[in-house]
Amino acid sequence: MKAIPYGHQWLDKSDIKAVVKVLKSDWLTQGPKIKEFEKALCGYTGAKYAVVVSSGTAALHIACLAAGIKAGDEVITSPITFLASANCAVYCGAKPVFADVQYGTFNIDPAEIRKKITKKTKAVIPVHFAGHPADVKAIHAISKKRGLTVIEDAAHALGAEYRTGKRWVKVGSSRHSDMAILSFHPVKAITTGEGGAVLTNSKDLYEKLLSLRTHGVTKDKKQFHSPAKKHGGAWYYEMNTLGFNYRMTDIQAALGISQLKKLDKFIEKRRRIAERYKKQLSRIKGIEVPVEEDDVRSAWHLYPVRISSDKGSEIKRKKMFVALKEKGVGAQVHYIPVHLHPYYSRRFGYRKGMYPVAEDYYSKAVSIPLYPGIAGKDIKRVIRAVREGVDAR
Ligand SMILES: *Cc1c(COP(=O)(O)O)cnc(C)c1O
Repeated sequence: MKAIPYGHQWLDKSDIKAVVKVLKSDWLTQGPKIKEFEKALCGYTGAKYAVVVSSGTAALHIACLAAGIKAGDEVITSPITFLASANCAVYCGAKPVFADVQYGTFNIDPAEIRKKITKKTKAVIPVHFAGHPADVKAIHAISKKRGLTVIEDAAHALGAEYRTGKRWVKVGSSRHSDMAILSFHPVKAITTGEGGAVLTNSKDLYEKLLSLRTHGVTKDKKQFHSPAKKHGGAWYYEMNTLGFNYRMTDIQAALGISQLKKLDKFIEKRRRIAERYKKQLSRIKGIEVPVEEDDVRSAWHLYPVRISSDKGSEIKRKKMFVALKEKGVGAQVHYIPVHLHPYYSRRFGYRKGMYPVAEDYYSKAVSIPLYPGIAGKDIKRVIRAVREGVDAR
């Protein structure tokens, strides 16, 4: 019996065709598909500018650099996230500072952010955990007052929406932030194999991001500094900052364009599976299911269920995990709080007990399979396995 994974890509013939077409073209990289994918991402999210890169992690790195984050700075993020949301600050020599999560959505708590702001704070990186939009309106308001840059880690939340007044806004629009990053890893909403993007409405940040993606080089005359520019011809380019090769290939961009056309269908499928889980699993004593607040539409990236009892939750969660695995259900735990990793305690002195809501959440959570292509019979198998897992001893 093949195990049901917790997440999986959806690829069809049109995706394969799009990739093959690029393979037969002149441009494998630095070609026309890059701009086309960026335009499509802007069209979908409503952001003005997009810069596609080689991974979500690369997107976080150049977003931090474009924000001017440097040694001695502090960057506030959530402890319940993938490591990259905090590592990106460390890449720039800054210190990641965690702000505890809110019970319920387990997204970063704006009130906790306020407590963690110091003179050294330069940026806040809210994560839309499991695809449920974080309270970016509150975070934006706090940050603007203090002159902080907001970089949304929207790796889970492409396709999610939230309401502002009467309007629904797509996560990624950067309406309440300076930049938002996406990931196109195969478990995410759409995939390019590896890949990511930074979205922004700022021309200044956009130009910085473009240059950081390609070695810090620019061919834009307006950005030239050297006196040598006056002797330069069409070949002339300049390096004014240190950048990287974080480019995405046209092969990947073509796949991304093709995938993006199916995104709304993917999200709809995810939503239906989440509804089915909620209906079936919320009846089971001993576990809690994820919530969706009224003024948001989650992208349903993950479906973490939680052990409801406070006593012995770690043991019960482990038993649940083992029981699921034994029944061929590929569960996963999202996430070990970042501050508890040895690197973080060694380098920054973080300890257990510092972020009680996040740590309590971690002791109880287990994500069950959720992806557009999951078969109906597999959903039933997951539900049955969870029911049995609650009573496992
Ligand atoms: C996946 C993910 C990333 C990193 O994306 P990669 O494309 O794998 O580099 C960053 N943040 C979060 C929250 C993620 O889930």
